[in-house]
Amino acid sequence: SSVIPDHRRSKGAHIVGGLLHDDLNGYRPCHSRMQQHVYRKASAFIPSSYLISKLRRYETLHMKCAPEAENFIKVLKSPELLQKSDCRFIVWIDYSGLGNRLMSLAGTFLYALLTERVLLVDRGTDMSDLFCEPFPHSSWLLPVGLSQAWLQGLDKSSPHRFGRLIDKGECSVHVNLSSVPAYSYVHLTHSFDIQDRRFFCDEEQKVLNQIPLLFLRSNLYFVPSLYFVPALAQEIERLFPEREALFHHLARYLFHPSNEVWGRIVRFYDAYLGNAEEVVGIQIRTFDLTKMPSENVTSQVFACTIGNKILPNASNLNQDERSWSVVMQKKPISVLVTSLHQEHFERIREFYLSHSTEQGRLVRVQLPSHEEQQKTGKAEHDKQALTDIFLLSLSDTLVTSPMSTFGYAAQGLAGVRPWVLTRPGEQTYQQYACIKALSLEPCFHAPPLFDCDCQGGRDPGKVLKFVRHCEDVNWGLKLF
Ligand code: GDP
Repeated sequence: SSVIPDHRRSKGAHIVGGLLHDDLNGYRPCHSRMQQHVYRKASAFIPSSYLISKLRRYETLHMKCAPEAENFIKVLKSPELLQKSDCRFIVWIDYSGLGNRLMSLAGTFLYALLTERVLLVDRGTDMSDLFCEPFPHSSWLLPVGLSQAWLQGLDKSSPHRFGRLIDKGECSVHVNLSSVPAYSYVHLTHSFDIQDRRFFCDEEQKVLNQIPLLFLRSNLYFVPSLYFVPALAQEIERLFPEREALFHHLARYLFHPSNEVWGRIVRFYDAYLGNAEEVVGIQIRTFDLTKMPSENVTSQVFACTIGNKILPNASNLNQDERSWSVVMQKKPISVLVTSLHQEHFERIREFYLSHSTEQGRLVRVQLPSHEEQQKTGKAEHDKQALTDIFLLSLSDTLVTSPMSTFGYAAQGLAGVRPWVLTRPGEQTYQQYACIKALSLEPCFHAPPLFDCDCQGGRDPGKVLKFVRHCEDVNWGLKLF
């Protein structure tokens, strides 16, 4: 398309450095898969050849095993059916906001890759409206047989919960391997208890390995804690020698917006963001707990963007005193604001309409939507949320809100380390408006303490070499 400036066109083919399968006949037409490289700069991170070969092997396994999921209803009644198959599965349960879903889905897929299971995705209310199929010649959607009511029953109180196999008061799992169930439910949400958290231990992984069918519910990016299990850690290191790009590669491999969503993304991009010198994405997510007046939110955004020279400051000179030729020579800077609310955007736009800027730069400020309220599970709302995440991910520079998986998803897809706004109430807020993230990786908001050796819980930030506490959530963990 002619509105895409040359410098934004990446030279790479649609297969993104070998990450995507190149057999296009294997997929239903998916425009985002074919066109993303046109809208994105080429990634600075190259996937390892080991990851690429593992993905190709996974695709073959998926093609072979996914049809067996048609029998899951029978399997629940006669578990011995699964024992006869050499396919093993993990079913991801649709749960929580879209950013949270992308976090847990990427983590679940990684776990499937590591443990040679096949990933199936509960379609929830709208997963099939949002995404194209990521695997060739087969589907990742769980066949409709298992009812939503049954899947939603897999929660903390479910009798199938894996954590229940571990006796209260015992540190470690005591399961007779001959009596492990044929299927089990892994509860990894923020409400997981000490037994559920033993999912991240070696001994428990040996038991899980014997269970052919797992269901998993999570709203967390739990990947950092997989490093507690030595065999998994070793394999992750081989797959992702550049640890910081782990979610980035998984997200670019898995998440391709459906044709309808992609249409919205590119029409908005071409009409409002293309032809700019630079696109600056600003994600403004205000949680109720920290609800601040809009003036305070936007003054923090200005302190961050102007203070760090991401956006130009207002000039003391009046526009009329400038030579027009200076203004006209330069392309504008496009600012993409995403937010549930319109008021922050209006303040930012008003600032650049009512002031001329240093060097006479033009700043055009855009807001693709303002949904006002989170309406997770409503298809039209979720499509707009995905549109906003992807538009943010096409930015050259990103400013994100603290604690938000919506922002993590955008930064990971973009491959851009964001400037993260500091959180009111945190010490850093007194000193800085925002901090440049030290890694692209999302933050795990609820990491368990390390106690796999039953020696008492210890700070995983001290036990593991490659994790740090996050810049936006000081008890959280991220890979770097
Ligand atoms: P988190 O709560 O920030 O970690 O992110 P989630 O994506 O999990 O949940 C927030 C949900 O609120 C999103 O999925 C959207 O449904 C909605 N939402 C929040 N911010 C925005 C926004 O900037 N644009 C749109 N369209 N929706 C948003």
